Amino acid sequence: MVEKNDSCPICKKAGDKVKNTTVEHMVCDELVENVKSEDYYLCMDEECDVVYYNSDLDSVFKKRDVKVPIWFKKDAEPKYVCYCNEVTEEQVISAVVKDNAENMKDIVRLTGAMKNGQCEIKNPSGKCCHSVVQSAIDKGLQFKNKKN
Ligand SMILES: [Zn+2]
Repeated sequence: MVEKNDSCPICKKAGDKVKNTTVEHMVCDELVENVKSEDYYLCMDEECDVVYYNSDLDSVFKKRDVKVPIWFKKDAEPKYVCYCNEVTEEQVISAVVKDNAENMKDIVRLTGAMKNGQCEIKNPSGKCCHSVVQSAIDKGLQFKNKKN
């Protein structure tokens, strides 16, 4: 059996597996028909222009081919942490710094993040945004502790 290739065609780094359904919902409408009926990989490299690619590397989607900014890629604007409710990293940090949010529960209440989650079709990774929201909270807390 041939080993499945999981390396990005441009940066050569290993990507994260993403379901076909997720890719179909993320690429621009006119490109949906080009999405193959197989699972893809998401390039996790911040500098790399590639977003999705398949293991045969004959189907590649770059940043401009995708409807939303990819939060961990360079120059993502806005930087969403929760795509389902369009909550940005900035909103989460501000809720921590200005509104004294301390944990996930506070953030859900203050920003509406993670409500009615449809991460499989709304998040570019197809995964729940929980850990990304958590790291934004941690960032906010760190920032706040530094200031005090
Ligand atoms: Zn790449």
